[in-house]
Amino acid sequence: MSRSAHPAGPRHADVLPEGHYSPPPADLNALDPRVWAGSVRRDKRGVLTVGGRDVLALAEEFGTPAYFLDEDDFRARCRAWRDAFGEGADVYYAGKAFLSRAVVRWLTEEGLNLDVCTGGELATALSAGMPAERIALHGNNKSTQELERAIEAGVGRIVLDSFQEIARAAHIARRLGRRQPVQLRVTVGVEAHTHEFIATAHEDQKFGLPLAEGQAAEGVRRVLGLDSLELTGIHSHIGSQIFDTSGFEVAAHRVVGLLAQTRDEHGVELPEIDLGGGLGIAYTSADDPAEPSAIARSLAQIVDRECASAGLAVPRLSVEPGRAVVGPTAFTLYEVGTLKPLEGLRTYVSVDGGMSDNIRTALYDAEYSVALASRTSEAPPMLSRVVGKHCESGDIVVRDAFLPADLAPGDLLAVPATGAYCRSMASNYNHVPRPPVVAVRDGEARTIVRRETEEDLLRLDVG
Ligand SMILES: *Cc1c(COP(=O)(O)O)cnc(C)c1O
Repeated sequence: MSRSAHPAGPRHADVLPEGHYSPPPADLNALDPRVWAGSVRRDKRGVLTVGGRDVLALAEEFGTPAYFLDEDDFRARCRAWRDAFGEGADVYYAGKAFLSRAVVRWLTEEGLNLDVCTGGELATALSAGMPAERIALHGNNKSTQELERAIEAGVGRIVLDSFQEIARAAHIARRLGRRQPVQLRVTVGVEAHTHEFIATAHEDQKFGLPLAEGQAAEGVRRVLGLDSLELTGIHSHIGSQIFDTSGFEVAAHRVVGLLAQTRDEHGVELPEIDLGGGLGIAYTSADDPAEPSAIARSLAQIVDRECASAGLAVPRLSVEPGRAVVGPTAFTLYEVGTLKPLEGLRTYVSVDGGMSDNIRTALYDAEYSVALASRTSEAPPMLSRVVGKHCESGDIVVRDAFLPADLAPGDLLAVPATGAYCRSMASNYNHVPRPPVVAVRDGEARTIVRRETEEDLLRLDVG
């Protein structure tokens, strides 16, 4: 279990227990390749570089805070996922992790499909030229307009989530004269995180139709009875930041069970299954995620085995990594503003961003790493907490980190693995304009999402 098991949340505990954090690393200047994007290095002066550009020049040109994304690393991860699953399976990038038009073009070029779950994500995908048949629409409460736009555009897949939505989608498709391919999202009673999973008969959450109580089977029956919908398969998504495939084993067993039941009751063998996303990445050196090729092998074996024992032909598999594609490709660059050493506790290091550009620490007790980026230092390690500039004591970016004791205002800090669920969950809390996303490749840096300005904020405030 994560530390969030503390009933009030660990952020309410004033002093963390002894031994809560790992000991300082042997070398504070070292960059663990597992948590940094592929091209990140230090140059001869010790300045952090990405894609051949150093952070002093990047901060000068783009300001701080800012997200810097290694485009080659993003493309390489797309190819690694696509190649790992090969011709017989489909990889859908989960757009909610981070979506922009540049990202859509990279995905299109590198052969990935795309999951969207709102009209805004759909509009971004279509406006950047992702072919509609490579788009899947998700969501537990898609609006009528969202369903209409998706069906009209000809999306390859809508993942239906409720009885009402089955009826709604069928009605819209009939009105538009379409036969819309759909999958049915089911909840299998498996919840997986990191190295653990919990398997129960029931699942207490808003997504999907539960397998328990026969709701999922009833959903299958209803979709099969509707001419304007083509049921292509069953969808399941079991968690996030998952490091091993044992939870998928239970999920696949239960999903394949529904496929077998569908064959027995309706004489129909559904041709697809989707096992969702949730594959983990390294936020700190303690995390050790598997390679896409190992995950692909393991998932294919699981599905083959389950289908063999149910006497079913192996359906076409799809997966939906979001974090595992984009998470490691970016870091956030901040400037240190103030330092407050608290005797016997730690030093609070305040940076020029915070929970508005990375809500994950406050929201999920997520762990991150941090490095002094503008120089190296031989000073001893100083136990630090990197905090933001927001009026909220839970505004923490990195809860426990060792930084060099000579850290000073004006130094630049880089927090790696912020490519997923940071810019996409960013807010304007305290009327802070959201930072830009800058793609770096071959010595060139290019803004792909520009920094918000105070003018942007005021434009929405009509007085
Ligand atoms: C969030 C989500 C994903 C992606 O999750 P990651 O942890 O980013 O891999 C995939 N599929 C569905 C249905 C999701 O809700």
